[in-house]
Amino acid sequence: MSIANLARPEIQSLRAYEAAEQVDNTIRLNANESPLINPNNPFRRPLNRYPEVRPQKLQTSLARRFGCAREALLVTRGSSEAIDLLIRTFCRAGKDSVVTTSPSFSMYRHYAEVQGATVIEVATLSEDDFAIDVDAVLDACDDNSRLIFICSPNNPTGTTLPRAELEKLLRERGDRSAVVVDEAYVEFCDSPSVIELLDQFPNLLVLRTLSKALAFAGARCGSVIGPASVIDMLNAVQAPYALATPVVECVENAMQTESLSEAEHWLEQVVSERERLTLALREFPFVRRIWPSAANFFLMQVDDASSLMAQSSEDKVLLRYFGGDLSDCVRVTVGTHAENDRLLQTFTKLAGD
Ligand code: PMP
Repeated sequence: MSIANLARPEIQSLRAYEAAEQVDNTIRLNANESPLINPNNPFRRPLNRYPEVRPQKLQTSLARRFGCAREALLVTRGSSEAIDLLIRTFCRAGKDSVVTTSPSFSMYRHYAEVQGATVIEVATLSEDDFAIDVDAVLDACDDNSRLIFICSPNNPTGTTLPRAELEKLLRERGDRSAVVVDEAYVEFCDSPSVIELLDQFPNLLVLRTLSKALAFAGARCGSVIGPASVIDMLNAVQAPYALATPVVECVENAMQTESLSEAEHWLEQVVSERERLTLALREFPFVRRIWPSAANFFLMQVDDASSLMAQSSEDKVLLRYFGGDLSDCVRVTVGTHAENDRLLQTFTKLAGD
């Protein structure tokens, strides 16, 4: 059985919106667009026409970059939209559940709540660098657990799930749940993407984003990758014309080889800054612990998180505080060398108090 059969019945039979035809060198009187070009448009191309319903060329170049077939990929407005589409496609309100680990990215819960799906949260092993306990995840699944979200490297802990553990989860859940691996930060870590497992596991879906390593958070572009039968359903659920013309053009441009090699260089810098910053921060007596991270951030435990947050904000350096189980922790995103030096100054100030 394909995991497409786990989707909401009404979505399984939903047909994609039939948009007005777009044919070059024709007079377009079929889409209620304006024939006039708005002069107050700073973008270099006119925007009076709708973009493509789905950006074909961009889909092909993202598939090439991520190493999958183009039919296996849907371009989304950031990977956030992919999370929303998956939950709306698979979960019946009041009936189905989404399994997540904790702590992890809060959007899985958010979109599950929007859809009225139950959220089953499985605690990670805090004493073991927040490792995911796959047996506990398997035990927590119920008959209606449609989606299991695995964030690797995990936000906010930086932890990765070993390949063998993921394979166990995929094997054990088989055609009973789709396992969604969120690889927002995969470029920063040493292990390869799990996209290469797609042929082996028909219940695997992978999320990728251009917001992190490719530095395009403002463009809102990501992808969901998985079996073509699932991608077709997500395509039917996604709004037509989801990606705006300037975004498509800007991201297509970024996919050119030259821009990509610049991004590679920046990636190396972030990883080396992550190592420099964590080494330097460990020297401060009030820093109790910094967890190893495979991402562009790290989680740090300190004696007094509220005075650190207050001092850094006074110094105009923003850090992320979550509270709850992480009440003595702060997440630090790795910045440029100069930005990281500013953070170190804040720590030096605090140490002097
Ligand atoms: N997944 C994870 C783990 C994230 O941390 C984020 C953003 N912080 C996202 C997905 C969403 O990113 P975007 O929508 O920008 O692709």
